Amino acid sequence: MTSDSDRRERSWLYYIGIVGTGVVTFPSCLGLLQHLVFKQLHLSASMTLSPLLGFVSVATTGIISSISICVVSPVLKRFLHDHGTSINTDSNTHDDDNTDKTATPEFMQCLPVYGVVSAAVFKLFNGHFKSVLPSDLVKPGAFARESVRATVKYANSSQRKKIQSIGKQHGCHSCGRWLKVKFYIADHQPPIAIVLQNSKANRKPLQDQRFYPQCTKCAKKQRHCVSKPAVRKLVTHATSLRRYHFFLPLPLLLPPSTLQLVMDLLKPR
Ligand SMILES: [Zn+2]
Repeated sequence: MTSDSDRRERSWLYYIGIVGTGVVTFPSCLGLLQHLVFKQLHLSASMTLSPLLGFVSVATTGIISSISICVVSPVLKRFLHDHGTSINTDSNTHDDDNTDKTATPEFMQCLPVYGVVSAAVFKLFNGHFKSVLPSDLVKPGAFARESVRATVKYANSSQRKKIQSIGKQHGCHSCGRWLKVKFYIADHQPPIAIVLQNSKANRKPLQDQRFYPQCTKCAKKQRHCVSKPAVRKLVTHATSLRRYHFFLPLPLLLPPSTLQLVMDLLKPR
């Protein structure tokens, strides 16, 4: 016989498994998109279309994560059942049985809702859609938030102080790293060499520049890019996680049966 405490413990294991599935799948898929799609197509966070591409990526990844939760749910229930108890969840991903229902029309109808809600939660946690794309080293990066006005000269002590403070808050503007970064370089954007080159070639005044915090690793890569203009190296940042990478287990919070009820109520009569 299974005691109540055993049952509660296994219910917790079920919830931890479901939440863990979303927590792992969501950032992993966004990271894969960066490496396998955006980097290969040379698409970066500084492009005009990047917020739209980011929105589509977050919504698609939200749908994939919701599907993975619904696939894992019956498997996890079966596993826990085989090891001693059945799981009674108050708001389940589906009904109370242990079958996979991801192919049902009811579930398929809910997928766009999961995509849009995932994008809304991403924004709610202060995420910028462009941030899911790689950074172009000669442009403000995926983590560029605040900046300091700059000239072609190097940063003075006051500007450097502000850059350290922005860096501590937002990390390196290119790769997003902040752990173990003790010092941020005040990075000119656009880089000085490019500004001088453009001004000379087009016979125009110097372009406005801003300082952004950058780690020494990215600064080194940037120097290489500027010295060899043919190289436009993109920096990926799949492991630079922020709170907006947290995925809420939507099928658990908004089960298909509830969404169907809302959709039925909203239908014009
Ligand atoms: Zn960096």
